[in-house]
Amino acid sequence: MKIAVIGFGAAAIGFIEIMKETDHEIHVFEKSKDIYSSSISGIRADGKLFVSKEMGGNIDVDLKLQKKLVDYYIDKSGNGEVETGKSFKTKDYYEKFYAHGFLPVRSDFYHLGTDQLKQVLYNIFEDFKSRKNIHFHFSQTIESVKSLNGQVIINEKEKFDYAIVAVGRSGHKLITNITKDSPELIIYNKKIDLGIRYEVPDHIVNELNSEMYEFKVKYKCKTGYMVRTFCNNPSGYVVTEHYGDFVTVNGHAKLKDKSTNTNFAILTTVELTQPFNDPTGFGSYIAKLSNLLAGDEKVILQTYAKFRDSKRTKHLYRVKPTLDEKKYILGDINLAFPRRIIESIIDFIDNLDNVIPGISGEDNLVYAPEIKFYSNVLDNSKFHNLKFVGDCSGLTRSIIYATAHGYITGKELLNEFG
Ligand SMILES: Cc1cc2nc3c(=O)[nH]c(=O)nc-3n(C[C@H](O)[C@H](O)[C@H](O)COP(=O)(O)OP(=O)(O)OC[C@H]3O[C@@H](n4cnc5c(N)ncnc54)[C@H](O)[C@@H]3O)c2cc1C
Repeated sequence: MKIAVIGFGAAAIGFIEIMKETDHEIHVFEKSKDIYSSSISGIRADGKLFVSKEMGGNIDVDLKLQKKLVDYYIDKSGNGEVETGKSFKTKDYYEKFYAHGFLPVRSDFYHLGTDQLKQVLYNIFEDFKSRKNIHFHFSQTIESVKSLNGQVIINEKEKFDYAIVAVGRSGHKLITNITKDSPELIIYNKKIDLGIRYEVPDHIVNELNSEMYEFKVKYKCKTGYMVRTFCNNPSGYVVTEHYGDFVTVNGHAKLKDKSTNTNFAILTTVELTQPFNDPTGFGSYIAKLSNLLAGDEKVILQTYAKFRDSKRTKHLYRVKPTLDEKKYILGDINLAFPRRIIESIIDFIDNLDNVIPGISGEDNLVYAPEIKFYSNVLDNSKFHNLKFVGDCSGLTRSIIYATAHGYITGKELLNEFG
């Protein structure tokens, strides 16, 4: 069979790993210019790999398969260096959070670090490239994919027997083009996570960081919204993320080069109801408004006390930001975010202080906007020869779940066609 793989990220890797020993002719189309490009794949920042049934995606992935894929990535690092731990395995910590209304999320994790990820991706690429049946085509942005008369047609010209679309969230333009032609593919589109990135000195969370590295908790706030922590980076760095027409914040940590601050996201999940159905538009407007207040391509930074009191921050005090000073402006996030989101975040941080004293310290740092967009959930039963895998399908949100989705899709294909 002649198979097209569109995008070379985590999901594509899972799919190709299963197909690499077969005779199927695989063509990989990737919009980045080469494997070294900074835009290639979601596997380029942080590299925290989780084994968990409670997070990472909405498909069922056997824990054994998750661990197998984690080992695969660690193996591709070439040296097996990894930071590892278990979240909420000890009863004490679990019960301490639980007693204050938090829902602790259990997982095992393995942290490769931003610095090692490039090599991991490169080693995977070298393995695939050495196979006779696998052909890479870089600088190829796919704009249209159509399933017609038993074939899949790409960019209105090239024909394949089967295709997987694995373009992640950065491939939303292609997904929009496809769903414009086949709107019935969309089965769910309502959610968005809006929030902030919080940065504190390491010593405040040292005990927690050494106990579990990644602490994920959810909390139902007094506003009724569910708020959660996401992507904890001990001794990490805050960075900006560019979405074309707006800028948001994110965080990561390196394996070797450490800072003295810990950062993590605090996100409020907003679920919109009829007739409004544009969560991406809603999130983008808030991001753009934040950028408008901060000035060109900048985000807003505020101390926690001023954020809580809705006053502009004019000076920082003891906590030194890890984000480059050219990328933020000291301001007031309250001018850009809806009140219900702000109240939810304040309720969350103040309550967290009951479990981690000092977390609501006056001069801790609040960066905004941090936004997590959910892709539309797509119906993979519509076409037998065209499948959406990984984050662009709306079914996954992590490296391991996306890789597993590709892997499972490859296995199903082999079961069907050999
Ligand atoms: C900054 C950041 C940090 C993250 N950190 C972690 C983490 O530590 N742990 C974790 O589990 N998850 C993390 N994630 C999420 C994780 O990266 C994704 O869930 C995962 O990579 C999704 O895999 P995917 O294959 O669906 O998409 P991706 O890995 O994003 O790959 C999609 C590929 O498709 C290409 N592409 C897009 N559109 C087109 C097109 N039209 N034509 C051709 N090619 C196209 C892109 O260039 C990209 O290479 C992070 C995400 C970000 C943005």
